[in-house]
Amino acid sequence: MTPETNPLVRTIKERCKACYTCVRGCPAKAIRISGGQAEVIKERCIGCANCVLMCSRGAKETLDSIRAVKALLASGAPVAAALAPSFPVEFGGIDPLRFAGMLKALGFKYVCEVAFGADMVSLQYRRLINENPGKKFISTACPAVVSFVEKYHPSLVANLAPIVSPMVAQARVIHETYGRDVKVVFIGPCVAKKEETARNTADIDESITFVELRSILKEAGVDRNTALDSQFDPPHPAKGVLYPMGGGLLNSAELEEDLLSGRFLSSEGLENFPEVLKNLEHGDIDADFIDLLCCNGCIMGPGISVKTSKHAREAALRRYARKSYFSIRLNDWEESVRRFRSLDYSASFAPEDQRMKVPGADALKAVLAKMGKVRPEDELNCGACGYPTCVEHAVAIIRGIAESEMCLPYTIERLKTTADELTVSYNQLAKTKQALMQSEKLASMGQLAAGVAHELNNPLGVVLLYAHLLAEQCDKDSRVFSDARMITEQADRCKKIVGGLLNFARKNKPFFRQTSLVRLIDNYFKTAPVPASLKVTVDRSGEDLQAEMDPDQIIQVLTNLITNAVEAMGGSGGLTVRTFAERESVCFSVADTGCGIKPENIKKIFEPFFTTKQIGKGTGLGLAVSYGIIKVHRGSIAVQSNSDPATGPTGTTFTVKLPRVAKDAGAIKMKTEAAGK
Ligand code: SF4
Ligand code: SF4
Repeated sequence: MTPETNPLVRTIKERCKACYTCVRGCPAKAIRISGGQAEVIKERCIGCANCVLMCSRGAKETLDSIRAVKALLASGAPVAAALAPSFPVEFGGIDPLRFAGMLKALGFKYVCEVAFGADMVSLQYRRLINENPGKKFISTACPAVVSFVEKYHPSLVANLAPIVSPMVAQARVIHETYGRDVKVVFIGPCVAKKEETARNTADIDESITFVELRSILKEAGVDRNTALDSQFDPPHPAKGVLYPMGGGLLNSAELEEDLLSGRFLSSEGLENFPEVLKNLEHGDIDADFIDLLCCNGCIMGPGISVKTSKHAREAALRRYARKSYFSIRLNDWEESVRRFRSLDYSASFAPEDQRMKVPGADALKAVLAKMGKVRPEDELNCGACGYPTCVEHAVAIIRGIAESEMCLPYTIERLKTTADELTVSYNQLAKTKQALMQSEKLASMGQLAAGVAHELNNPLGVVLLYAHLLAEQCDKDSRVFSDARMITEQADRCKKIVGGLLNFARKNKPFFRQTSLVRLIDNYFKTAPVPASLKVTVDRSGEDLQAEMDPDQIIQVLTNLITNAVEAMGGSGGLTVRTFAERESVCFSVADTGCGIKPENIKKIFEPFFTTKQIGKGTGLGLAVSYGIIKVHRGSIAVQSNSDPATGPTGTTFTVKLPRVAKDAGAIKMKTEAAGK
């Protein structure tokens, strides 16, 4: 697999928890959040692998070159290991000669130190700087830095030193020394080198990290106990071994930083090198040569598995560097330098502009407003989204690599709103469920009541008929006559109860006609027996509320409600009847300031025969009948009541809603037949 076809770094989606840590840690803003998942944008990525190091979920993985290297080793072709100078950091516990022997045991024919390539590159830098006084150069040993310049500071591409990296230089030395047919595998701490390898296939065949090498060694069963010592293959390095440390290039090339002249500058680390480039672009830097490393030195590269501190790694490298430097034979080294000085170490770079264009002020304002950032103080710049400022986040949203949901305060606000909406829906649902249960209960009661009423109706009719006949046939002063009258009265009472039950069960057919609700109520009060001690208020809506209704039945409802209200107030208080309109309904309410209905009774008030009145004072059918009548009108009847003076004024309000008569073609027309079903 090569970076040409596969990204250097990819997200393992199942592990990604969208915490935006990788967005925060990516110096190139090369991570797109889409559908709540992070994905690496190959064209923007510089291969620093910082996201891999930062992701605590292990949701980022780097390009795997293990199979390709194993295939090379198994191919029979001579393969050279180009070992990065930071190897003493990763394999410090193994004697270098034994380590070289382990690589040979794996199948590498040659084991060469890239540090010699670094020596050659250092000479090139000295020459370049001496031959171009006043011109500013940026080192090109770190492919992540080179990529960052090409993508995000294209105007500085001309400042990139036109010199290959130590890896490529070493590969050319290997080919010159051991032949063109030798395959070269770079082994180092760097993921970005895989991309550089893909760009330089004429020189390098594969690139693996130390972590990958450990895996290959383990699988092959090669360790310090099974391998023999072996010498590194020449040419041997001098000070190039210092390259993996910050300032190592300057030291190796003897371009020492001098505070007085300020000609040479070195900076390393993701937090620092982008800033240096920005400053250079702004003309703030007067140094002639700037040595930049993306990591805090290659000793901190992402392909190293040891977890020691930076200082411990520097110490390990220095120990090896001292030993190596003082054991070289200077004459041999100079001879090697002379031999390879004439090789081509030139390199060229080209802009690959990936800068995000700043969107127009209006677009920016709109995106910020969507996230609730209307005033400057709304821009918290909290960094939770992974972007340092709200504006940068908004730019990324406009460019399609971020989502507004990444803004934590915005998301919390939205969640709160959603939670509130859900609470309202839940409460409505609970109320509807309760109403449905009540309605079902009343419907089954209605069926029972209708059955009983139907069965009683005929025998009652017969009793009434014969009681009347009996009364007609006997003397009006006789005892039999008065008994017959008593039977008639009681049977009439039973008839009314049966009628009430049939009303409740919606078995009595209403006779609909278009009626003015306001006029109906006015007429009611002209004859209504309301005690003078009560304060009666009739609050009429401005409009003439028309509905198709059976006026007699609605008057019956009104009578029931007002009778109950009057009784609840016990002779004093206020009765308010109000008419009003809602979108599809005409409505009236009857409110009293009486004792209220206890909460435990509210659910039962529409049940037939439920009453809180004294025995003999009511049948308990008034509200049940009213309920049945309103239901047959396709309307609704609801009650609100407070019986606890501690929580506010006591009293009860019944609200009745009836379908409005629409004036247009789509008017609601109810058929008597349909309603009677
Ligand atoms: S490797 Fe570096 S540049 Fe690429 S996505 Fe990860 S953090 Fe960003
Ligand atoms: S500093 Fe070294 S390890 Fe890190 S990206 Fe650059 S070359 Fe690779």
